[in-house]
Order: sequence, then structure tokens, then C-alpha cells
Amino acid sequence: MIIHADIVFSEDREHLAVHPDSYIIVEHGKVKAILPVIPEEYKNAPLTDYGDGVLIPAFSDLHVHAPQYLNRGLEMDLLLSDWLDKCTFPMEARYADPEFAKLAYDAFVDDMIANGTMHACVYGTIHSEATSYLLERMDKKGIKGYVGKVNMNRNAQADLLEDTAESIRDTEEFLERYSSNRNTRPILTPRFAPSCTRELINGLGRLGKKYQTGMQTHLVESLWEAEQAKILFPECSCDTEIYERAGLMDNGPVIGGHFIFPSEDDIRIMQKYDSYAVQCPDATISIIAGIMQTGALMDRGMKIGLGSDISAGHHIGVYTQAARSVQLSKLKQFYEPDNNRKITFPEAFWMATKQSGQLFGGTGSLEPGSVFDALVIDGLSDAARKLAPEQIVERFCYIGAKDNIKARYMNGEALSL
Ligand SMILES: [Zn+2]
Repeated sequence: MIIHADIVFSEDREHLAVHPDSYIIVEHGKVKAILPVIPEEYKNAPLTDYGDGVLIPAFSDLHVHAPQYLNRGLEMDLLLSDWLDKCTFPMEARYADPEFAKLAYDAFVDDMIANGTMHACVYGTIHSEATSYLLERMDKKGIKGYVGKVNMNRNAQADLLEDTAESIRDTEEFLERYSSNRNTRPILTPRFAPSCTRELINGLGRLGKKYQTGMQTHLVESLWEAEQAKILFPECSCDTEIYERAGLMDNGPVIGGHFIFPSEDDIRIMQKYDSYAVQCPDATISIIAGIMQTGALMDRGMKIGLGSDISAGHHIGVYTQAARSVQLSKLKQFYEPDNNRKITFPEAFWMATKQSGQLFGGTGSLEPGSVFDALVIDGLSDAARKLAPEQIVERFCYIGAKDNIKARYMNGEALSL
């Protein structure tokens, strides 16, 4: 397959690779080459021409709560603790009903793909049946990712609290059933320190070792959460150590949501295991009220991705979070000049594509050898001002919408919505 377009992807953290008016050759689902003219041997191969359209890698969402999809854009005037009690937990309790879950999860998965996200780390709820449906749906649609059955046995409303032994048993069944999946796989998901006892977290640590399964959770996401972690786990010097002590950090990828108030110990442990921290800019603005030290952490070599964090964040398109991440880094630098530097747009795009894509097996880029998960965007130039391809990408992240995505490719195949 050959596609003609303007082609943009991250060359490295600081630079975009821009190939205007070029041809990309895709074979067996992977990028073979990017060339200014069609080589002789491909003269008769089928060609799709997008003209001035810009071809970019599909996005990765490293932190999103599928069950909260129905809450997006609502109750945004609350802060974390109230928002969990009044908004999030009552909605999650409804996923005890599998029929309700199917309706909601079908819409969630379709909207994620429509908005250009093809790789994701997704939270379900405590409910095995509903979360299994979510994982199967994502797997069937070809989304590369991880889905977690959430574990929680304290500090929530009664119908969301699990018996500890039952929680571990249900989680093991979930891991057993899906560990050999090709696209979407299970991941351990203790919600966060305030909602899990030591006994539960240690039990998950044993499962992590047995099934070599990674973990996603919320880490030092708010001052309230960081404080709770210290009160409830007084033997640990920081939030991240709670999971390290249980052996949860080195069985596969670890994805720590938010990471806004890390101590030096949190940073040290995350770096030791090459873990990902996830910035969720909209969630930060609406619910959490704290800004990650994105630039400073990046300069220390931390891996950082972006998350929509539906529904603390309101928009499922990760491209919007790339723009917001730049904005927040400037605010952080303005108010706390010693604690951050502003990031550039190429750095934000890198987090949303190439850096995160490494989690899912060689995607998130269009360089030769990459899995061809890609989008074609257009409709963003002005009649009076033609934009360069990289400017179209930046504008898309600021003011674009799913209607600007004219084509989607997954594993080298065109998708129809
Ligand atoms: Zn979250």
C-alpha cells in the first residue's frame, strides 16, 4: 500500500520529522519507507492520495476510566474527594448491570477510535463481567492496550467495596482469561492507596509475579491522596513505595497516573523500574488542582505520557491534551519558576505519540519499522494563509475535532467508522 500526503511524526523528543508531499510505503502492517517519489518497483501498487492532508501517528491514552465516559463534562466544579463520592463512585456502581455496561462501553470504544486513539491504558470497575466485556470489545476492535479490573476494599460506598479474598480471586480469573491476548491485555489496577489495604496490595503483588503482569494506579495525584497514602501506609516513605514493597513494580509496565506531588523517593523508584508517569492536563485543571512538573521530570529522564482521564478530564481526544500540556507547563513555570520549565509543542506531541507508543510494541511513530497506526488530518488551513504540515498538526491539537480526521489506519488497514 502506498499513501501520498504530507507526513509528520516525532523524530525525537525535541524535533518533529516533516516530509512534505511524500509517499509512505506500508507492507505487512508496518512502515517500509518514506520517499519523495514512488520507486519503480511500486509503480503499479495501489495508491491513496490525500493531497494536502497530513499523515500523523495515532495517539495513545495512558490514563482513562471507561465507566466514567457517561460523566464527561459534568460536575466539573468539584474537587477530587467530593467528586469521587458524589459523581464517580455512584456511576461506577451502575456497572454491576452488564447490559448498562455494554451500552456505555460500546460508545466509549467507538468514540476513542473516532478521536484517533488506538492505544490505551484503561480502567474498568470492580465488576468482572462488565470489565471483561470492555476488554473483549477493545481487543475485537484492534486497540492495543491494557484494561484493568479495579481493586478497592476500603474508603468508598458500600456497593463498590470488595471482600479482599474475592477481589484477588476475581482478578486472578481475569488475568488467566486474557493474558495471552494479542491486542488488549489485562493489567493489575489497584485504584489508589486510599482504596486498598496492605493485604489486598500484597495479594496483587503475588499475582503480578505469577502472571508477569504490569500495574496501573494513581500516584501522588493530589495533596489529599498523598497524605492519605502516608497515613494509611505509615511504613512507607512515599506513595510509590507502597507498590514497590508488594513487588508490583517489576513484572511489566507500570503506569502511574498524575504524579503531581512526587517526593524524591517517588521519582527514584519510578526511574528505577523505567515506569511511565502520566499527565492528564484537563483533569488537573478541573478536579485535581495541581500541575505536574512535566519539563523538569522529562529533563531528569522520566518517561511521561498523556491521559484524557475521562471523566476528571472532559475530552476523550488525547490530541487536546498535548495542547493543554504546553499551556500548563507555562503556568507552572510562571507560578513556580524553580520547579519547572515550559515544554515545546514537539515535546507534547512526543509524549502523546512516540514516547507512549513504545508501551504498545513499536507504534506511535511513522519511521520505517513502525506499526502503521495512523491518522490523516485536514481542513485546518486558512484560504488566506497556507500552513506548513507541522503547523497543521499543532493547530489540530489546539482547535481540531474528530471531524478533522479524514482517515484512520490500524495495523496497516483502513478503518471505517
Ligand atoms: Zn484516574
